[in-house]
Amino acid sequence: MQTALAHGLAASGSILGNGFDLAGVTGFSRAQICCLALKGVSSGVVSFSDSPIYANETHNYFSAANIVRPACVFSPETAEHVAYAVRIFNGANCSFSVRSGGHLPVPGSNGQNGAILLVTTKLKTLDVRGKTARIGPGNIWSEVYSETDKVGKVVLGGRIGSVGVGGLILGGGISFQGPEHGFSCDTVVNFQVVTADGQIRNANASSNPGLFWALKGGSNRFGIVTAFDMRMYPLSKVTGGTITYQYSSLPMVLEKIDTVHRHLDFDSKASFFVNVVDASDVAIGQFVEVVIYYGKPSTGVPVAFQPFFNIPGIVANTVSTKSYSELVPNGREGLPLGVFSHTWRSLTYKQSGLVNKKVAEIFQEEVGKLRASKGGSVQPGVFTLAFEPYATSMLSASRRTGGNALGLDGQNGPLMIALLTYSWINQTESANRTGAVKASVGRMKRFAQAQSKHIDFVYLNAAAPDQDPFRSYGQANYQRLRGIRRKYDPEGVFSVLQAGGFHL
Ligand SMILES: Cc1cc2nc3c(=O)[nH]c(=O)nc-3n(C[C@H](O)[C@H](O)[C@H](O)COP(=O)(O)OP(=O)(O)OC[C@H]3O[C@@H](n4cnc5c(N)ncnc54)[C@H](O)[C@@H]3O)c2cc1C
Repeated sequence: MQTALAHGLAASGSILGNGFDLAGVTGFSRAQICCLALKGVSSGVVSFSDSPIYANETHNYFSAANIVRPACVFSPETAEHVAYAVRIFNGANCSFSVRSGGHLPVPGSNGQNGAILLVTTKLKTLDVRGKTARIGPGNIWSEVYSETDKVGKVVLGGRIGSVGVGGLILGGGISFQGPEHGFSCDTVVNFQVVTADGQIRNANASSNPGLFWALKGGSNRFGIVTAFDMRMYPLSKVTGGTITYQYSSLPMVLEKIDTVHRHLDFDSKASFFVNVVDASDVAIGQFVEVVIYYGKPSTGVPVAFQPFFNIPGIVANTVSTKSYSELVPNGREGLPLGVFSHTWRSLTYKQSGLVNKKVAEIFQEEVGKLRASKGGSVQPGVFTLAFEPYATSMLSASRRTGGNALGLDGQNGPLMIALLTYSWINQTESANRTGAVKASVGRMKRFAQAQSKHIDFVYLNAAAPDQDPFRSYGQANYQRLRGIRRKYDPEGVFSVLQAGGFHL
C-alpha cells in the first residue's frame, strides 16, 4: 500500500475508483495520504516541507498570523487538476484549505496546520481579448490591470495591487469603479467552478443560476472557482493618487469626507477612501491619507475632490493623470507582506458626518488606552482606521445583473464602512490586539446604533473571525445560501473538510 501511495497515481486511482480504505496503513496522516495521492495528478504540483515552493507558499500571506504548516502544498495547473483533487478530498475525507492572494487576515480561512493547502498560484489564465476578460484566481489585481490597460479597458477589482483575484470577488469586491457598476461580483458573467462532486461547472445567468447568485458573496463555501469571466469597461487615463496630511488636519479631513461622500451619488466617476494612520510605535509617525480616483483624465482637480485640496496641512500629493495600472501598482500596501500580523474588524453605517467624527475619536482614545495599559512598552506596530464610502448607485447596481447575496440595495442611501486594523510584529500580542479592536468597534457600533445609523451588514472581506457576514446578508438570503449549499454540497465538503473561514 505504501509503495502505491508513493506513486500517487495508483493511490488516487484507488481512491476515485473503489472508495478509500485506510485499513492497515500506518505512519501517515489522512492528509499526508491525500498529498501522496495528489502527486498522481501531474509532476511538480505537490510540495512537502523540505521544498522551497512549500516555504514560499506557506509564507505567502498578507498577515504573518496566517502563516501555516500544512501537510503539503498542492498547486493545480488546470481546472481538471482541481476537480481531481476535490474528488480525492471528498473520497478520503481529507481536510483542505484554498488560498488565492492570501490577503484575508482571518487565520484558518486560507490555510490550516496539518491540512492540504490548495494554492491557486498556477491558475494564471488572463485573457482580455474578448468582450469579457477570463481571469484565473492565481492572478493578483496589479497583473490584471497591466493586461486590461493594454486594451483600453478595466475590470472591477482591488484598489491595492497585491490583493488576490479569488477572495476579493467571492466576498463582494469594492473597486474604484463601484459607484458606476456595483460590486466586483456584480460584474462577473460566469464562474467556472469545481463543486463538491468534483464536477467542473459554469455558473451564470442561465446555467446553475442559483450557484451563480451564491458565489456573489458566498466566499469559499460553494466550490473552488477556477476562472472568472468578468465584464470589461472602457477606460483610458484616470485621475488619481494619494493626498497625505499632517495628523492635525484630521478634523478638517473628516468634515470633507462627509461632503465628498454626499457628492458621490451625483458623480459616479468619483470614488475615494481614507486611512487614518498611527504608526508612532514604528517611528513613522501619525498621518492621514486620502486616496482618490476619477475615471477620466483631468487637467485640474476634479470638482468632486476640490474640498480635499482646500485643507491645510498637505505634506504630499501624488494626484495626477495616469494609467490605471500606475494608479494601482503592486507594492502600495504600506507595510511589507507577511511581516506584520494584522487583526481587523469593521462596521457599516448610513452616511453620517457625526458618526465618522465619533468613530475617529474612539479610535484615538482606544489606541491611547492600549498604549497606556502597556506602560509605555507597547510592541512595534501600526494602528489604522479606514473610511470606505459606498455610493447609493453601487448598492443598487446589482439589480441590473441578477442580484448578489450581500443583501444590500440603494434604500439606505450611501453607506460607510469603517475598518479598524491593528498590525504588530510580535505574535504574542495577538489576543491583546484582537480584543482591543473588538472593544473599539463595539463602542463605535453602539454610538452608530444610538444615532439610528448602524446597518447590520458585515462586509466579509473586512470581517473579523467572530463576525458573521453570512447572517448579516439578511435572513432570506442566509436561508437561500444554505439551501443552495445543500444542493451542491450535501455532505459539507466545503464547510466540514474545508473547515476554516466564516460559518454558513
Ligand atoms: C492590503 C489590502 C487591500 C485590500 N483592498 C481591498 C479593496 O480594494 N477592495 C475590497 O473589496 N477588498 C479589499 N481588501 C480585502 C480583500 O478583498 C480580502 O482580504 C480578500 O479576501 C482577499 O482576497 P485574496 O484572494 O487575496 O485572499 P485569500 O486569503 O487567498 O482568500 C480569501 C478567502 O477566499 C477564499 N478563496 C480564494 N480564492 C478562492 C477560489 N478561487 N475559490 C474558492 N474560494 C477562494 C479563500 O479560501 C479564503 O477563505 C484588501 C485587503 C488587504 C489586506
